[in-house]
Amino acid sequence: MRGVVFLGDRRAEVREFPDPQPGWGEVVVRLKAGGLCGSDLHRYRQDAAQRAGNIIIPGHEPSGLVESLGGGVANVRVGDRVSVYHYRGCGYCKECLGGNLMWCAESRGYGVPIHGSNADLILTDARNCLPLPTELSFAHGAMMACNAGTAFSSMQKLHPVGGETVAIFGQGPVGLAGTLFAKAMGARVVGVEPLAGRRALAHSLGADETIDPNAGDPVKAIHELTRGEGAACSFETSGSGSGVNGAVDCLRLGGRAVFVGKHEDKALAPSQIIGRQLTLMGSFVLPIHMYYEMLRLILERRVPLEAMVTHRFPLEKAQEAFALFDSGKTGKVIFEWA
Ligand SMILES: [Zn+2]
Ligand SMILES: [Zn+2]
Repeated sequence: MRGVVFLGDRRAEVREFPDPQPGWGEVVVRLKAGGLCGSDLHRYRQDAAQRAGNIIIPGHEPSGLVESLGGGVANVRVGDRVSVYHYRGCGYCKECLGGNLMWCAESRGYGVPIHGSNADLILTDARNCLPLPTELSFAHGAMMACNAGTAFSSMQKLHPVGGETVAIFGQGPVGLAGTLFAKAMGARVVGVEPLAGRRALAHSLGADETIDPNAGDPVKAIHELTRGEGAACSFETSGSGSGVNGAVDCLRLGGRAVFVGKHEDKALAPSQIIGRQLTLMGSFVLPIHMYYEMLRLILERRVPLEAMVTHRFPLEKAQEAFALFDSGKTGKVIFEWA
């Protein structure tokens, strides 16, 4: 099979790898769509010294057809359409039984440390194969593995009700999926995004208002859009210091925020949180069973996830795909197989 490797200094190359063989309880899936995620870019941007000797295939948004089964697999058959959950776990510990495979002591994520989805085939556990109904494309299946799943799980934590305003910082793929889900859940969405193309995409996907943070103070703008009250909820996907602070300072009294964009500065002061009694939450992918709730919302509210996709590439164009996605000027970028 073919698989992508990152050589360092923003170079991606397609190489030949042996086809994976499923062991007991394992499944091999033939990829039909695979997403590029912002977290892949951290490794794409590493230098050649950091990448030296690392030939793990990146990518953790797999969707495709079940190709072959190991022994003891009962939940899928060859030819089934599946979305593949992003972390493999032991399956038996407290965290796995709670659905949080990413917290398992034996957790293994695609791309780090095991071969991921930027390849023709992927080896996974039977339990990671989640059903993808025929109404949804493989592109949907790919996005539901990380991008949309991360946004959905965050919106479940914010739980906007009664048309509450949700300010979403960053309108990259996770922010855009947040916009779609928040709208489907009945919220009013204010998107904060410096790039005009992404603001336009956010509008086309249903964002009620968009703000360019370089054109003025977004916190002030959000207060103006909420008659001075502030937003009930915020969702921080940008990973910038201004986004982190903005997502806190834009909130109304008793507001709540979810953070998924990593920012290492100690940017927040307790005084920003105490007086207004804010609730701040972190979020990280989604528990595996939440896939079914996401699926229900997408099907019943016809959430047009695939409208986020702006670019599609065959795997052999990996270098072009990552370079374009790295420019930050795209919506969702995916690999597709005929
Ligand atoms: Zn991801
Ligand atoms: Zn476990």
